Formats: sequence, C-alpha cells, structure tokens
Amino acid sequence: MRDTLGRNISYLRLSITDKCNCRCIYCMPAAGVAHRRHRDLLSFEELAEVVAAAATLGVRKVRITGGEPLARRGVEELVRLVAATPGIDEVDMTTNATMLAPLARPLREAGLTRLNVSLDTLRPERYRDISRTGELADAIAGMRAAADAGFTNFKMNCVLMGGVNDDEVADFVDIARREPVEVRFIELMPMGECAAWPRERFVSGDVVLNTCPDLARIGEGGVAELYAGPGFAGRVGLIRAVSHRFCSGCDRIRVTADGRLKPCLHSAAEVPLVGLHGETLVDAIRAGIEAKPAHHNLRPGVSASATPRDMNEIGG
Ligand code: SAM
Ligand code: SF4
Repeated sequence: MRDTLGRNISYLRLSITDKCNCRCIYCMPAAGVAHRRHRDLLSFEELAEVVAAAATLGVRKVRITGGEPLARRGVEELVRLVAATPGIDEVDMTTNATMLAPLARPLREAGLTRLNVSLDTLRPERYRDISRTGELADAIAGMRAAADAGFTNFKMNCVLMGGVNDDEVADFVDIARREPVEVRFIELMPMGECAAWPRERFVSGDVVLNTCPDLARIGEGGVAELYAGPGFAGRVGLIRAVSHRFCSGCDRIRVTADGRLKPCLHSAAEVPLVGLHGETLVDAIRAGIEAKPAHHNLRPGVSASATPRDMNEIGG
C-alpha cells in the first residue's frame, strides 16, 4: 500500500523480544530491561496474524529482529509461520550471531532467506567493551555455522562510533575485499542510550570513503549506498541515515515486541495492535501506514530521536 506521500510500504520489521544476551553501549542500559511478563509479548500466533494482515496491505518482506531474536525460544517455529504466510516473499533476520551456531541450520530449514549480522569490532577485547557481555569468538562461530548452513552473501552491520571503532574501517573493508559479503557501515543514531553522547562519537559515513579511496560507487541496495574496489569479492554499504537521510524512499513499518506499530523509527507515534484481529487489525495497520511522517529530524548534538524507546525495543 502507498502512504500519503506515495511511498510504497512493502517491508515490515518485527521485533519479537526486547531482551538480549548483550548490552551494547549504544543500544541498551547496562542493567538490561525490566523482566516482561510473557503475555506482554505478542505470541507467535499473534505475530503471524500481524504478518498476514500486513501482507494483505502489500507487505512482501519481513525482518525478524529484537532485542536479540535468537533469545526467544522456538524462533525457528516463528520463521516457519512467517515464511508460510501468503504474500510474503522474503523472511530475513538481524542478529548479533553469538547464539547462532546451533540455530543456523534449523533457521535455514524453516525458510529464513537472509541474515544480517551485527559486528562493530574485530578485536576481542573491544568486542567485550562494546557489547558488555558478548564474545567475538561466539559471533564468528555463528557466522561460520551460517555459511555452512547455506546462508550465502550475508550482510555484516558495523555501527560507526568516533573514538571507539572508527580506527577499524580499513580492517572491515578488507573483509569485503576478500569475502563475498556486504560489509555495511551504519551511522550512529542519537536515541536512547546514546542520545546524549558527545558530538565526536557521531561520525559520518564519509570516514569510510576517506579511509579507503579505492572504493567506487557501484549502485544502491535498499537504504545502502554500495561501493567496491578493484578485485573485491564482496562490497561495502554505507547507511547514512543521519547525514543523508533517506526518508523519501522509506518503504517500511515496524512492530515492537509489545505489539505497537511504529510508523517511523524516530517518532513517538505508535498504533496499538494488541488484541486486534481480522479486519480491525488490518485497519489499524493501514492507519499506521497513513500516519508515516515525511522525515525524521535527527541532528546529533542538536536534536535526538523523538521516540522514548531504546533501540532494543524497536529492533533497528
Ligand atoms: N540484536 C540484534 C543485533 O544486534 O543485530 C538485532 C537488534 S539490534 C537493535 C538491530 C541493529 O540496530 C543492530 O545492527 C544495531 O547495531 C543497531 N543499532 C542499535 N542502536 C543503534 C543506534 N543508536 N544507531 C544505529 N544503529 C543502532
Ligand atoms: Fe543486543 Fe543487538 Fe542491542 Fe547489541 S544492538 S544490545 S546485540 S539488541
């Protein structure tokens, strides 16, 4: 379905838990989240109902996210339900991969199309500092298992943070040089935990092009500008949500783990979906699409995201 600005909304990001085994410094409070009662989360059947209703309005692609989606027990069963929904062509997942090793094959068999793995550093000590509780070796084991299970061409997401990991840009680009993966650099967005961080943490994607001048633009992929250099096996993506906002091409809606549709990641507006079924549920999703704003107003150091939620509740 098209929104009031003519944008074709075909992509649903579904957060299935706000819990996570990591506590990344920009995403979650160090103490984690308050323990939700199980019925505060949408059940798998309710999530599948939301996907089916969104599909009747033209959603074709679903991304399962969190919190950490692999922290929700039985996630492969949800993937099976979503993949079997009429109208849905693609079911993807964003994960930190630290619990992926034993789940990669069951997820593949359940119908997961594609994986995005979040990895902000290639250094074990720094990985502990950024994720607070995670181990780089577990994430690497998860990615290896995913490749063995047949997930080819997965994407690796690195959030750029000035003075934290921007000295690793060339090392990440080297991965795309050697391996057939898309290494994507994401600009840090001022929200939740990092809304009040100092201005120098928010570096623009330009740092990647300045560090690796052999990169040349080869096209676009969704919200990413794509680059590669001579002899690259993979490619580099820049997601410049802050410095080059791409809201005019926005094709997505989001549903939080507690069942609220967010017309925009950075707006406080939400449409409750809990307890709705059939046509009422379809009408609520339609209202959410119609409520999409023209653009966000993020300006690091000047104005932060208007959403009162941390990223782990929304899913990126
Ligand atoms: N736990 C999973 C993971 O880390 O991939 C999925 C959920 S996580 C909230 C989704 C994505 O949002 C991750 O790639 C994470 O790095 C990114 N993210 C979280 N907070 C962010 C922020 N303030 N700015 C930019 N990206 C952020
Ligand atoms: Fe967890 Fe992902 Fe947030 Fe890190 S970015 S704390 S892995 S939800």
